[in-house]
Amino acid sequence: MTATHGDAPRATVLVLNCGSSSLKYQLVDPVGGEAIASGIVERIGEEQASAKHMAHGETTRRERQVHDHGEALRLVLNLFDGVGPDLAAAHVVAVGHRVVQGGSRFDGPVLVTEDVQRTIEELSPLAPLHNPPNLTGIRVAQALLPDVPHVAVFDTAFFRTLPEAAATYAIDSEVAQRYRVRRYGAHGTSHQYVSRQVADVLGRPLEDLNQIVLHLGNGASASAVRGGVAVETSMGMTPLEGLVMGTRSGDIDPAVVFHLHRNAGMSIDEIDTLLNRRSGVKGLSGENDFRALHDLVESGDAQARLALDVYLHRLRKYIGAYHAVLGRLDVLTFTAGVGENDDVVRARVVEGLEAFGIEVDSERNAGRKSEPTVVSPDGAKVTVLVVPTNEELAIARQAMEVIGG
Ligand code: ADP
Repeated sequence: MTATHGDAPRATVLVLNCGSSSLKYQLVDPVGGEAIASGIVERIGEEQASAKHMAHGETTRRERQVHDHGEALRLVLNLFDGVGPDLAAAHVVAVGHRVVQGGSRFDGPVLVTEDVQRTIEELSPLAPLHNPPNLTGIRVAQALLPDVPHVAVFDTAFFRTLPEAAATYAIDSEVAQRYRVRRYGAHGTSHQYVSRQVADVLGRPLEDLNQIVLHLGNGASASAVRGGVAVETSMGMTPLEGLVMGTRSGDIDPAVVFHLHRNAGMSIDEIDTLLNRRSGVKGLSGENDFRALHDLVESGDAQARLALDVYLHRLRKYIGAYHAVLGRLDVLTFTAGVGENDDVVRARVVEGLEAFGIEVDSERNAGRKSEPTVVSPDGAKVTVLVVPTNEELAIARQAMEVIGG
């Protein structure tokens, strides 16, 4: 994204993403799209936390104990004070908070109120690792930055449009309703941003396009988007369902859980850890970074080859399924760490899909893409694109919409 011709932006948004032991932030110019400063505080609550602040092309590091998220945010504000940019001069007009689970309640970004905070808390059983720290982030930021509006942007909101048939699990409906067991999706901010970017890049009305978006990062998800409206997505009640991921299994027969509990003596928490952290390509090969995975494959490692094959097979299945859901497919887009950078994955995913009109041109596909790029050949039935995602910018722009900026 380009800066605003050297002029200071008229308004900026501070985007916050609080994890259980981390706080990520970015100061964003929502118009020009520039990240003016960004950083992360990691290992909050441990003996030694580390902070990394990037601004003016320089990185500043701090190592010290940080007891909680409030202290972490104070450290971040000190870094802005000491290293810059000066937040007062940056005209911060809103703080945008990433919140993972918005349940059935939120279909878009909202101004944070007491009621919104209560609902985020109520939804915590559905996202126990994410919603509580997201809410803590909101509370400490409101306390330290009380003069600007705070906006919650939900990872699930884009998928509130899923048809009932796609959102419903075929289980006893009374149990499902009582415990809010349904498919909410995740990565929605990215899928929405990228699917809109696609229309801009192609210069075609969003309403006319049937799209599949593949967000392939460490977490990975696919979506089917008809006319800008999400109609399917691969993540379910939690981000565990769907594609094979860096460390998550994605789809699995639920009976595997019963089997491991009954016959391997594993507790529910151990199985949770197994499926979320010790599975996916890492579980199969020992590596979850695709650069290392490819090195292993090239060295002849059979497990790494299998991991890549399983990953690609699942992706192809989803592309075929979503093609069927959409009826007609116009665009297939790759995004996130693997999708943007890994030309081998992109090329291999579409192998054998020529009959669906899906193919890539090897020259266009080659290399990492930091700009939106068409990688299918001219005249292809389905346009294949790589579009870098930018969740912080998307959150900043949604925050601006909410405050009417
Ligand atoms: P997340 O936000 O889910 O943590 P990202 O979207 O940042 O993940 O993606 C991170 C992943 O992207 C890494 O684990 C790695 O597998 C992959 N990746 C990053 N750079 C490259 C590259 N040059 N080639 C292949 N894969 C890459």
